[in-house]
Amino acid sequence: GPVVRFENVFFHYDPDRPILKGIDFEVPAGKTVAVVGPSGAGKSTISRLLYRFYDVTGGRITIDGQDVRDVTQTSLRAAIGMVPQDTVLFNDTIAYNIGYGRPGASEEEIREAARMAQVGPFIESLPKGYETEVGERGLKLSGGEKQRVAIARTILKSPAILILDEATSALDTKTERDIQSALDTVAANRTTVVIAHRLSTVVNADEILVLRDGQIAERGRHEDLLTLG
Ligand code: ADP
Ligand code: ADP
Repeated sequence: GPVVRFENVFFHYDPDRPILKGIDFEVPAGKTVAVVGPSGAGKSTISRLLYRFYDVTGGRITIDGQDVRDVTQTSLRAAIGMVPQDTVLFNDTIAYNIGYGRPGASEEEIREAARMAQVGPFIESLPKGYETEVGERGLKLSGGEKQRVAIARTILKSPAILILDEATSALDTKTERDIQSALDTVAANRTTVVIAHRLSTVVNADEILVLRDGQIAERGRHEDLLTLG
């Protein structure tokens, strides 16, 4: 798998307010790095920069040594699967929303991904199941349901690089536990960045970065950081 590196990355949305101030880390091929820290620390900004919703204002981000600014958006987004905090679905069917990241996926593959992401239970209660349209003119899904559709999409897409940005934040504890194992399966042997609120959800990360005020305040494995609470 690919190697992702953040090299002295700076970023600001507003020029007079720096959000990231010299972020340095590497995600070795197939490994998982987790970013934790208080709300507003800049965690999601890290995932948005890697996915290139925004470009760094200093330093650089590379994939296998290549600056992400030199990669076309199409190939970057083909390589990266992202489950964002707030999923916005297409005004289309659930099947379309799951299959979107992998054109040509069979109905069977879509159903299997849906099963792993626990989309099944709410689909079964729908009149036309996967062909039910969601969004403005269709069925309104809850935050947790949308998140499960996004997780199914990412499982199906099976990307080389995975970004999970508080990917289970909208789920109840039981659903979260069930889906976590599916996410662990997808993350295994993939280069993965996990953004999380709680240390308890990133026990297996190869490295955990504790972000505070746009800087890496601590880093280590879960057992090293437990004393921080
Ligand atoms: P975290 O994920 O750690 O909660 P974020 O990366 O979402 O933090 O945000 C870091 C800081 O950047 C916060 O102070 C937030 O208000 C600010 N911020 C986030 N998105 C924007 C934006 N689009 N425009 C301006 N400021 C933003
Ligand atoms: P597309 O492949 O059509 O470009 P995206 O890759 O932009 O779609 O979207 C992937 C996921 O990221 C979607 O679930 C979408 O809701 C979410 N997303 C899109 N834009 C943003 C953004 N600016 N900030 C956070 N999440 C976003």
